[in-house]
Amino acid sequence: MRTRFYNARILTMEDGRDIFEGELWVVGDRIIFVGTEEEGRHYCDSHKDTILVWDEEIDCKKNLLMPGFKNAHTHSAMALMRSKADDLPLSDWLGTQIFPIEAKMTVEDIYHLSKISIMEYLTSGMTAAFEMYLTPFSVADAFRDCGFRCVQTSCVNNFSQSVELLEKYYTDLNGRDEYNSFILGIHAEYTCSKELLEKTAELTHKYKAPFWAHISETESEVKECRDRYGMSPVEFFDSLGLFDYGGGGYHLVWTDDKDMEIMKKRGLYAVTNPASNMKLASGVAPISDYVAKGIPVAIGTDGPASNNCLDMFREMFLVTALSKIRNMDAASMDASEVLKMATVNGAHAMGLKDADVLAEGKLADIIMLDMTQPNMQPENNIVKNIVYSGSKSNVLMTMIGGIIRYNRGKFNIGAEPDEIYAKAYEISKRLYA
Ligand SMILES: [Zn+2]
Repeated sequence: MRTRFYNARILTMEDGRDIFEGELWVVGDRIIFVGTEEEGRHYCDSHKDTILVWDEEIDCKKNLLMPGFKNAHTHSAMALMRSKADDLPLSDWLGTQIFPIEAKMTVEDIYHLSKISIMEYLTSGMTAAFEMYLTPFSVADAFRDCGFRCVQTSCVNNFSQSVELLEKYYTDLNGRDEYNSFILGIHAEYTCSKELLEKTAELTHKYKAPFWAHISETESEVKECRDRYGMSPVEFFDSLGLFDYGGGGYHLVWTDDKDMEIMKKRGLYAVTNPASNMKLASGVAPISDYVAKGIPVAIGTDGPASNNCLDMFREMFLVTALSKIRNMDAASMDASEVLKMATVNGAHAMGLKDADVLAEGKLADIIMLDMTQPNMQPENNIVKNIVYSGSKSNVLMTMIGGIIRYNRGKFNIGAEPDEIYAKAYEISKRLYA
Protein backbone atom coordinates (compact mmCIF):
# COMPACT_ATOMS: atom_id res chain seq x y z
CA MET A 1 0.00 0.00 0.00
CA ARG A 2 1.28 3.46 -1.01
CA THR A 3 -0.38 6.43 0.63
CA ARG A 4 0.26 10.13 0.10
CA PHE A 5 -0.96 12.59 2.70
CA TYR A 6 -0.92 16.17 1.41
CA ASN A 7 -2.10 19.61 2.51
CA ALA A 8 -1.29 18.59 6.10
CA ARG A 9 0.10 20.25 9.14
CA ILE A 10 2.77 17.95 10.54
CA LEU A 11 4.11 17.56 14.07
CA THR A 12 6.97 15.07 13.75
CA MET A 13 7.85 15.12 17.50
CA GLU A 14 11.52 15.36 16.54
CA ASP A 15 13.47 17.56 18.96
CA GLY A 16 13.49 21.19 17.91
CA ARG A 17 11.24 20.77 14.84
CA ASP A 18 8.18 23.00 14.81
CA ILE A 19 4.84 22.16 13.18
CA PHE A 20 5.00 22.81 9.42
CA GLU A 21 2.74 22.49 6.39
CA GLY A 22 3.62 19.70 4.01
CA GLU A 23 3.29 16.10 2.89
CA LEU A 24 3.93 12.65 4.28
CA TRP A 25 4.37 9.60 2.06
CA VAL A 26 4.00 5.98 3.13
CA VAL A 27 5.14 2.90 1.24
CA GLY A 28 4.44 -0.46 2.85
CA ASP A 29 4.74 -0.10 6.62
CA ARG A 30 7.26 2.79 6.50
CA ILE A 31 7.39 6.54 6.01
CA ILE A 32 9.53 7.30 2.94
CA PHE A 33 9.19 11.07 3.00
CA VAL A 34 8.03 13.81 5.32
CA GLY A 35 8.57 17.48 4.51
CA THR A 36 7.28 20.58 2.79
CA GLU A 37 5.79 20.49 -0.72
CA GLU A 38 8.99 21.98 -2.08
CA GLU A 39 11.12 19.35 -0.34
CA GLY A 40 8.78 16.79 -1.91
CA ARG A 41 9.63 18.11 -5.37
CA HIS A 42 13.36 17.87 -4.54
CA TYR A 43 12.80 14.32 -3.34
CA CYS A 44 11.22 13.39 -6.68
CA ASP A 45 14.07 15.07 -8.61
CA SER A 46 16.69 13.14 -6.68
CA HIS A 47 14.81 9.81 -6.81
CA LYS A 48 14.11 9.68 -10.54
CA ASP A 49 14.37 5.88 -10.49
CA THR A 50 11.53 5.65 -7.94
CA ILE A 51 8.13 5.75 -9.57
CA LEU A 52 5.63 7.10 -7.08
CA VAL A 53 2.21 5.76 -7.91
CA TRP A 54 -0.25 6.15 -5.06
CA ASP A 55 -2.96 3.71 -4.04
CA GLU A 56 -4.52 6.50 -2.03
CA GLU A 57 -3.99 10.27 -1.88
CA ILE A 58 -5.49 11.95 1.18
CA ASP A 59 -6.17 15.67 1.36
CA CYS A 60 -5.61 16.45 5.05
CA LYS A 61 -7.29 19.86 4.70
CA LYS A 62 -4.71 21.38 7.05
CA ASN A 63 -5.52 18.91 9.82
CA LEU A 64 -2.62 17.65 11.93
CA LEU A 65 -0.54 14.52 11.35
CA MET A 66 1.52 13.33 14.31
CA PRO A 67 2.91 10.06 15.71
CA GLY A 68 0.27 7.82 17.32
CA PHE A 69 0.07 7.72 21.11
CA LYS A 70 1.67 4.78 22.91
CA ASN A 71 -0.39 3.30 25.73
CA ALA A 72 2.50 2.19 27.93
CA HIS A 73 0.50 0.09 30.42
CA THR A 74 -2.77 -1.75 30.05
CA HIS A 75 -4.67 -5.01 30.58
CA SER A 76 -6.96 -5.02 27.55
CA ALA A 77 -9.22 -7.99 28.31
CA MET A 78 -10.24 -6.41 31.62
CA ALA A 79 -12.88 -4.66 29.53
CA LEU A 80 -14.99 -7.51 30.93
CA MET A 81 -14.95 -5.92 34.40
CA ARG A 82 -15.63 -2.38 33.24
CA SER A 83 -18.18 -0.86 35.60
CA LYS A 84 -18.40 -4.14 37.51
CA ALA A 85 -15.63 -3.45 40.01
CA ASP A 86 -15.63 0.15 41.09
CA ASP A 87 -15.42 2.27 44.21
CA LEU A 88 -13.25 -0.16 46.19
CA PRO A 89 -9.70 0.07 47.58
CA LEU A 90 -7.07 -1.77 45.49
CA SER A 91 -6.74 -4.81 47.77
CA ASP A 92 -10.53 -5.40 47.96
CA TRP A 93 -10.89 -4.57 44.29
CA LEU A 94 -8.35 -7.26 43.37
CA GLY A 95 -9.38 -9.84 45.97
CA THR A 96 -13.18 -9.67 45.66
CA GLN A 97 -13.90 -8.33 42.14
CA ILE A 98 -10.98 -9.14 39.87
CA PHE A 99 -9.20 -12.40 40.82
CA PRO A 100 -12.42 -14.50 41.21
CA ILE A 101 -13.69 -13.49 37.75
CA GLU A 102 -10.27 -13.86 36.13
CA ALA A 103 -10.15 -17.43 37.43
CA LYS A 104 -13.17 -18.22 35.21
CA MET A 105 -11.92 -16.54 32.00
CA THR A 106 -10.82 -18.80 29.14
CA VAL A 107 -8.12 -18.27 26.54
CA GLU A 108 -10.85 -17.52 23.96
CA ASP A 109 -12.63 -15.09 26.28
CA ILE A 110 -9.43 -13.09 26.60
CA TYR A 111 -8.97 -13.08 22.82
CA HIS A 112 -12.43 -11.63 22.23
CA LEU A 113 -12.43 -9.17 25.13
CA SER A 114 -9.06 -7.70 24.12
CA LYS A 115 -10.64 -6.49 20.89
CA ILE A 116 -13.02 -4.12 22.72
CA SER A 117 -10.01 -2.29 24.13
CA ILE A 118 -8.14 -2.35 20.83
CA MET A 119 -11.10 -0.53 19.26
CA GLU A 120 -11.02 2.05 22.01
CA TYR A 121 -7.26 2.58 21.58
CA LEU A 122 -7.86 3.32 17.90
CA THR A 123 -10.54 5.90 18.67
CA SER A 124 -8.12 7.62 21.04
CA GLY A 125 -5.28 7.82 18.50
CA MET A 126 -3.17 5.08 20.06
CA THR A 127 -1.03 2.97 17.75
CA ALA A 128 0.64 0.64 20.26
CA ALA A 129 -0.10 -0.87 23.65
CA PHE A 130 2.19 -2.23 26.36
CA GLU A 131 0.05 -5.14 27.47
CA MET A 132 0.09 -7.48 30.47
CA TYR A 133 -2.44 -10.25 30.90
CA LEU A 134 -3.07 -13.90 31.66
CA THR A 135 -2.79 -15.59 28.26
CA PRO A 136 -0.12 -13.86 26.15
CA PHE A 137 -0.63 -16.05 23.07
CA SER A 138 -4.35 -15.34 22.70
CA VAL A 139 -3.74 -11.66 23.49
CA ALA A 140 -1.11 -11.60 20.72
CA ASP A 141 -3.59 -13.27 18.35
CA ALA A 142 -6.19 -10.57 19.05
CA PHE A 143 -3.72 -7.75 18.39
CA ARG A 144 -2.39 -9.43 15.24
CA ASP A 145 -5.89 -10.05 13.88
CA CYS A 146 -6.83 -6.40 14.43
CA GLY A 147 -3.51 -5.15 13.00
CA PHE A 148 -2.62 -3.28 16.20
CA ARG A 149 0.94 -3.03 17.52
CA CYS A 150 1.41 -4.78 20.86
CA VAL A 151 4.35 -5.14 23.19
CA GLN A 152 3.57 -7.62 25.94
CA THR A 153 5.05 -8.56 29.23
CA SER A 154 3.76 -11.36 31.43
CA CYS A 155 1.98 -11.24 34.76
CA VAL A 156 3.89 -14.19 36.23
CA ASN A 157 3.12 -14.58 39.93
CA ASN A 158 2.86 -17.29 42.59
CA PHE A 159 -0.60 -18.35 41.40
CA SER A 160 -0.51 -18.23 37.60
CA GLN A 161 1.98 -18.58 34.76
CA SER A 162 5.60 -19.54 35.62
CA VAL A 163 9.19 -18.55 34.84
CA GLU A 164 9.32 -21.43 32.34
CA LEU A 165 6.27 -20.00 30.55
CA LEU A 166 7.80 -16.53 30.75
CA GLU A 167 10.81 -17.79 28.79
CA LYS A 168 8.52 -19.48 26.27
CA TYR A 169 6.55 -16.25 25.72
CA TYR A 170 9.84 -14.40 25.26
CA THR A 171 11.28 -16.81 22.69
CA ASP A 172 8.01 -17.51 20.83
CA LEU A 173 6.31 -14.12 20.68
CA ASN A 174 9.34 -12.10 19.59
CA GLY A 175 9.45 -12.24 15.81
CA ARG A 176 6.23 -14.29 15.51
CA ASP A 177 4.46 -11.63 13.46
CA GLU A 178 4.86 -7.97 12.54
CA TYR A 179 2.56 -6.66 15.28
CA ASN A 180 3.74 -8.46 18.42
CA SER A 181 6.81 -8.41 20.62
CA PHE A 182 7.52 -9.46 24.20
CA ILE A 183 9.56 -8.07 27.10
CA LEU A 184 10.43 -9.94 30.32
CA GLY A 185 8.38 -9.03 33.36
CA ILE A 186 6.31 -10.21 36.31
CA HIS A 187 3.10 -9.04 37.99
CA ALA A 188 4.42 -7.37 41.18
CA GLU A 189 6.63 -7.92 44.21
CA TYR A 190 3.64 -8.60 46.48
CA THR A 191 2.41 -11.51 44.34
CA CYS A 192 5.81 -13.13 43.72
CA SER A 193 8.07 -15.18 46.00
CA LYS A 194 11.75 -14.32 46.31
CA GLU A 195 12.56 -17.64 44.62
CA LEU A 196 10.38 -16.80 41.60
CA LEU A 197 12.07 -13.40 41.31
CA GLU A 198 15.55 -14.95 41.54
CA LYS A 199 14.69 -17.32 38.70
CA THR A 200 13.38 -14.37 36.68
CA ALA A 201 16.67 -12.54 37.31
CA GLU A 202 18.50 -15.53 35.81
CA LEU A 203 16.39 -15.09 32.67
CA THR A 204 17.11 -11.36 32.39
CA HIS A 205 20.81 -12.24 32.60
CA LYS A 206 20.56 -15.12 30.13
CA TYR A 207 18.95 -12.83 27.52
CA LYS A 208 20.59 -9.58 28.70
CA ALA A 209 17.04 -8.22 28.70
CA PRO A 210 15.16 -5.44 30.47
CA PHE A 211 12.67 -6.21 33.24
CA TRP A 212 9.24 -4.74 33.98
CA ALA A 213 6.64 -5.01 36.77
CA HIS A 214 3.95 -3.13 38.66
CA ILE A 215 6.07 -1.30 41.23
CA SER A 216 5.26 0.80 44.30
CA GLU A 217 1.67 1.42 43.26
CA THR A 218 0.34 1.84 46.82
CA GLU A 219 1.83 2.99 50.10
CA SER A 220 0.95 -0.34 51.76
CA GLU A 221 2.75 -2.31 49.01
CA VAL A 222 5.97 -0.46 49.83
CA LYS A 223 5.49 -0.85 53.58
CA GLU A 224 4.88 -4.60 53.31
CA CYS A 225 7.95 -5.04 51.10
CA ARG A 226 10.05 -3.14 53.66
CA ASP A 227 8.64 -5.40 56.41
CA ARG A 228 9.56 -8.51 54.39
CA TYR A 229 12.96 -7.55 53.01
CA GLY A 230 13.98 -4.27 54.66
CA MET A 231 13.95 -2.62 51.22
CA SER A 232 11.52 -0.83 48.91
CA PRO A 233 10.33 -2.80 45.86
CA VAL A 234 12.71 -0.84 43.58
CA GLU A 235 15.68 -1.55 45.90
CA PHE A 236 14.66 -5.18 46.33
CA PHE A 237 14.35 -5.85 42.58
CA ASP A 238 17.67 -4.11 42.01
CA SER A 239 19.35 -6.16 44.74
CA LEU A 240 18.33 -9.32 42.84
CA GLY A 241 19.93 -8.02 39.62
CA LEU A 242 16.59 -7.69 37.84
CA PHE A 243 17.44 -4.22 36.53
CA ASP A 244 20.96 -5.04 35.32
CA TYR A 245 19.75 -4.60 31.73
CA GLY A 246 17.30 -1.77 32.38
CA GLY A 247 13.52 -1.88 32.07
CA GLY A 248 11.06 -0.01 34.22
CA GLY A 249 7.95 -0.03 36.30
CA TYR A 250 4.25 0.68 36.03
CA HIS A 251 2.76 3.19 38.51
CA LEU A 252 5.84 4.05 40.66
CA VAL A 253 3.72 6.28 42.88
CA TRP A 254 5.44 5.73 46.24
CA THR A 255 9.15 6.14 45.54
CA ASP A 256 11.82 8.00 47.49
CA ASP A 257 15.18 9.59 46.64
CA LYS A 258 17.00 6.26 46.99
CA ASP A 259 14.58 4.60 44.53
CA MET A 260 15.06 7.45 42.08
CA GLU A 261 18.84 7.10 42.30
CA ILE A 262 18.48 3.45 41.29
CA MET A 263 16.01 4.31 38.52
CA LYS A 264 18.40 6.90 37.13
CA LYS A 265 21.46 4.64 37.44
CA ARG A 266 19.75 1.68 35.73
CA GLY A 267 18.12 3.81 33.01
CA LEU A 268 14.62 2.73 34.08
CA TYR A 269 11.41 4.11 32.61
CA ALA A 270 8.54 5.19 34.84
CA VAL A 271 5.13 4.51 33.33
CA THR A 272 2.55 6.65 35.04
CA ASN A 273 -1.17 5.79 35.18
CA PRO A 274 -2.82 8.86 36.64
CA ALA A 275 -6.53 8.01 36.20
CA SER A 276 -6.12 4.52 37.68
CA ASN A 277 -4.08 5.89 40.60
CA MET A 278 -6.81 8.43 41.32
CA LYS A 279 -9.75 6.04 40.95
CA LEU A 280 -8.15 3.42 43.21
CA ALA A 281 -6.95 6.17 45.56
CA SER A 282 -3.36 4.93 45.22
CA GLY A 283 -1.79 8.37 45.22
CA VAL A 284 -0.11 10.92 42.94
CA ALA A 285 3.22 9.92 41.38
CA PRO A 286 6.20 12.32 41.68
CA ILE A 287 6.37 12.91 37.93
CA SER A 288 8.11 16.30 38.05
CA ASP A 289 10.85 14.76 40.25
CA TYR A 290 11.40 12.03 37.65
CA VAL A 291 11.63 14.59 34.86
CA ALA A 292 14.00 16.80 36.89
CA LYS A 293 16.27 13.82 37.56
CA GLY A 294 16.27 12.73 33.91
CA ILE A 295 14.19 9.58 34.49
CA PRO A 296 12.08 9.11 31.33
CA VAL A 297 8.32 8.99 31.91
CA ALA A 298 5.74 7.33 29.66
CA ILE A 299 1.96 7.18 30.10
CA GLY A 300 -0.45 4.26 30.37
CA THR A 301 -4.18 3.99 30.89
CA ASP A 302 -3.95 0.82 32.99
CA GLY A 303 -6.83 -1.60 32.37
CA PRO A 304 -10.45 -0.73 31.68
CA ALA A 305 -11.50 -2.07 35.09
CA SER A 306 -9.37 0.38 37.03
CA ASN A 307 -9.61 3.48 34.84
CA ASN A 308 -12.26 2.82 33.20
CA CYS A 309 -11.62 4.87 30.09
CA LEU A 310 -8.80 4.15 27.61
CA ASP A 311 -8.19 7.72 26.57
CA MET A 312 -4.72 9.21 26.17
CA PHE A 313 -6.08 12.77 26.07
CA ARG A 314 -7.55 12.35 29.54
CA GLU A 315 -4.32 10.77 30.84
CA MET A 316 -2.17 13.58 29.41
CA PHE A 317 -4.33 16.20 31.07
CA LEU A 318 -4.17 14.34 34.39
CA VAL A 319 -0.37 13.98 34.25
CA THR A 320 0.10 17.70 34.01
CA ALA A 321 -2.78 18.72 36.31
CA LEU A 322 -1.84 16.25 39.07
CA SER A 323 1.78 17.32 38.90
CA LYS A 324 0.72 20.94 39.39
CA ILE A 325 -1.45 20.00 42.39
CA ARG A 326 1.17 17.73 43.96
CA ASN A 327 3.71 20.54 43.83
CA MET A 328 1.18 23.36 44.27
CA ASP A 329 3.01 24.90 41.34
CA ALA A 330 1.32 25.55 37.97
CA ALA A 331 4.75 25.68 36.33
CA SER A 332 5.72 22.17 37.41
CA MET A 333 4.77 20.30 34.23
CA ASP A 334 4.75 21.66 30.70
CA ALA A 335 2.33 20.42 28.01
CA SER A 336 5.10 19.70 25.50
CA GLU A 337 6.88 17.46 28.02
CA VAL A 338 3.65 15.50 28.52
CA LEU A 339 3.04 15.11 24.78
CA LYS A 340 6.56 13.67 24.48
CA MET A 341 5.74 11.18 27.26
CA ALA A 342 2.63 10.02 25.36
CA THR A 343 4.51 9.47 22.10
CA VAL A 344 8.32 9.33 21.96
CA ASN A 345 8.99 8.15 25.53
CA GLY A 346 6.27 5.52 25.30
CA ALA A 347 7.78 4.12 22.11
CA HIS A 348 11.25 3.97 23.66
CA ALA A 349 10.00 2.38 26.89
CA MET A 350 8.31 -0.33 24.81
CA GLY A 351 11.38 -0.96 22.68
CA LEU A 352 9.64 0.47 19.59
CA LYS A 353 12.54 2.63 18.49
CA ASP A 354 11.12 2.93 14.94
CA ALA A 355 7.71 4.15 16.08
CA ASP A 356 8.72 7.28 18.01
CA VAL A 357 8.68 10.19 15.54
CA LEU A 358 7.52 10.90 11.99
CA ALA A 359 10.66 10.69 9.83
CA GLU A 360 11.95 8.91 6.77
CA GLY A 361 12.45 5.20 7.49
CA LYS A 362 10.26 5.15 10.60
CA LEU A 363 7.14 2.99 10.94
CA ALA A 364 3.99 4.58 9.56
CA ASP A 365 2.16 4.67 12.92
CA ILE A 366 0.37 7.96 12.38
CA ILE A 367 -2.74 9.78 13.52
CA MET A 368 -4.67 12.70 12.06
CA LEU A 369 -6.25 15.16 14.48
CA ASP A 370 -9.16 17.39 13.50
CA MET A 371 -8.15 21.02 13.94
CA THR A 372 -11.51 22.38 12.83
CA GLN A 373 -13.44 21.58 16.00
CA PRO A 374 -14.11 24.34 18.56
CA ASN A 375 -11.91 22.72 21.24
CA MET A 376 -8.89 23.23 18.96
CA GLN A 377 -9.65 26.90 18.23
CA PRO A 378 -8.11 29.40 18.12
CA GLU A 379 -4.77 27.89 17.23
CA ASN A 380 -2.68 29.95 19.61
CA ASN A 381 -0.62 26.90 20.54
CA ILE A 382 -1.46 23.56 18.94
CA VAL A 383 0.59 21.42 21.37
CA LYS A 384 -1.17 22.99 24.35
CA ASN A 385 -4.52 22.57 22.61
CA ILE A 386 -3.84 18.83 22.22
CA VAL A 387 -2.84 18.31 25.87
CA TYR A 388 -5.21 20.72 27.63
CA SER A 389 -8.33 20.76 25.44
CA GLY A 390 -7.88 17.87 23.01
CA SER A 391 -10.15 14.84 23.11
CA LYS A 392 -10.93 11.54 21.39
CA SER A 393 -13.43 13.43 19.24
CA ASN A 394 -10.47 15.07 17.48
CA VAL A 395 -9.09 11.73 16.21
CA LEU A 396 -10.01 11.47 12.53
CA MET A 397 -7.67 8.64 11.54
CA THR A 398 -5.34 6.07 13.07
CA MET A 399 -2.81 4.32 10.82
CA ILE A 400 -0.62 1.43 12.02
CA GLY A 401 2.19 0.03 9.89
CA GLY A 402 0.89 1.89 6.83
CA ILE A 403 -2.68 0.58 7.11
CA ILE A 404 -5.56 2.82 8.17
CA ARG A 405 -7.26 0.92 11.00
CA TYR A 406 -9.68 3.66 12.06
CA ASN A 407 -11.13 6.38 9.88
CA ARG A 408 -13.85 8.83 10.96
CA GLY A 409 -15.74 6.34 13.14
CA LYS A 410 -15.17 3.30 10.92
CA PHE A 411 -12.92 0.39 11.93
CA ASN A 412 -10.78 -1.79 9.69
CA ILE A 413 -9.82 -4.56 12.12
CA GLY A 414 -10.99 -7.77 10.47
CA ALA A 415 -14.29 -7.95 12.40
CA GLU A 416 -17.40 -5.81 12.72
CA PRO A 417 -17.91 -3.83 15.95
CA ASP A 418 -21.37 -5.39 16.53
CA GLU A 419 -19.84 -8.86 16.34
CA ILE A 420 -17.16 -7.91 18.91
CA TYR A 421 -19.67 -6.30 21.28
CA ALA A 422 -22.08 -9.25 21.05
CA LYS A 423 -19.29 -11.69 21.88
CA ALA A 424 -18.22 -9.59 24.89
CA TYR A 425 -21.80 -9.42 26.16
CA GLU A 426 -22.17 -13.19 25.82
CA ILE A 427 -18.93 -13.73 27.82
CA SER A 428 -20.01 -11.25 30.48
CA LYS A 429 -23.40 -12.96 30.89
CA ARG A 430 -21.73 -16.35 31.27
CA LEU A 431 -18.97 -15.29 33.70
CA TYR A 432 -21.24 -13.15 35.88
CA ALA A 433 -24.08 -15.72 35.91
ZN1 LIG B 1 -1.64 -2.68 35.81
